[in-house]
Amino acid sequence: MKLYEYEGKEIARKYGIETPRGILATSVEDVAKAYRELNTGTVVLKSQVLVGGRGLAGGVKKASNLEEALAKARELFSMSIKGERVEKILVEEAVCISRELYMSLTVDRATRKLVYLASGMGGVEIEELARKHPDKILRIPVDPFIGYSGYMARQALGFLGLQWDKLGQLDSIMRAMYKIMMDYDAELVEFNPLAYTCDGKLTALDAKIIIDDNSLYRHPDLQPLYGRDATSYEKIAKQLDFNYVELDGDIGVISNGAGLTMATMDSILHYGGRPANFLDIGGGATRERVREAVKIVVTHPRVKAVLVNIFGGITRCDEVASGIIEALSETRVVKPIVVRMLGTNEEEGRRILIEHGITVYTEMDEAVLRVIQLVREVS
Ligand code: GDP
Ligand code: MN
Repeated sequence: MKLYEYEGKEIARKYGIETPRGILATSVEDVAKAYRELNTGTVVLKSQVLVGGRGLAGGVKKASNLEEALAKARELFSMSIKGERVEKILVEEAVCISRELYMSLTVDRATRKLVYLASGMGGVEIEELARKHPDKILRIPVDPFIGYSGYMARQALGFLGLQWDKLGQLDSIMRAMYKIMMDYDAELVEFNPLAYTCDGKLTALDAKIIIDDNSLYRHPDLQPLYGRDATSYEKIAKQLDFNYVELDGDIGVISNGAGLTMATMDSILHYGGRPANFLDIGGGATRERVREAVKIVVTHPRVKAVLVNIFGGITRCDEVASGIIEALSETRVVKPIVVRMLGTNEEEGRRILIEHGITVYTEMDEAVLRVIQLVREVS
């Protein structure tokens, strides 16, 4: 679960990390009030959305007087960033930046350790930095039996090219990051940029904290926030108790059982396709459940073609087939759909689908190759 920048900064401040003074606004009037209250010349208006890369998308704007601040606030409030409407703006005093650094603490799954990532090239997204300048990123693994240790700040200080008199500040920031990571069961604590200001201070200009959802039972105060970053499709799926996950490709996937669903995804990737989402209808799904499942997957705007991969055990192929047909006629969406099914009531299922012009495969590879081909044809 991602936290908003203003929430991340609140936590950072609680742990002694400096951030610019800022006030959260949910309306243009709020922005006016915040501007007066901050009583500083230039402010930065930062749209609060859970997607990354706001800066590039025009979601971070500077204003040097009240009129300008209001005009830009209006502009921001009417914006959507990567599909997310701007409903909150963090109004902050502008900071004079000398250098933009990158500092994060995250989980390295390969080594099963936490790792600090530091870079002197902050401000750009870390994924991009890792691609273009992997040598500009310092990785400091953290031994879980030892935790944070002072040498890490010394190592980072040298790599970042900061003077020795900054060691105390960097040390307390990195120590605080470790504490936040532990206290909040975070997967990521990231400051990008961590600014080295013109007056020689280290300030978190941006904050991104991701909480491990599996730990929410230990954080009753965070539980109400769960699910707010779900897309509208994920919310509907959750209400209907489907396992549904969105990805960034263009093939919709419906399958039954976690194992077959994962195998389907692997197979699509293996043959060069990219799943847009996947939905596991679980065991013994009725035609009504299948209908709702297909509706979710097929109506998603990124989906160009759908692959249904069913192994009928308790699940009956004829129920699945009827569900598919009902969903297609109710949504009136015309997207190619490829079905691979076998097992219980296979013949009846196949008959229903063929009657409606849908080809049914028994081999998974054939179905996967077919759906990839169809996506290429409509692209
Ligand atoms: P992101 O694009 O979503 O990561 O948004 P950030 O909060 O990181 O802001 C993007 C960029 O805006 C930063 O890298 C800075 O260059 C700039 N920026 C943000 N706040 C300030 C500020 O107070 N003063 C100045 N001069 N630049 C700022
Ligand atoms: Mn940033």
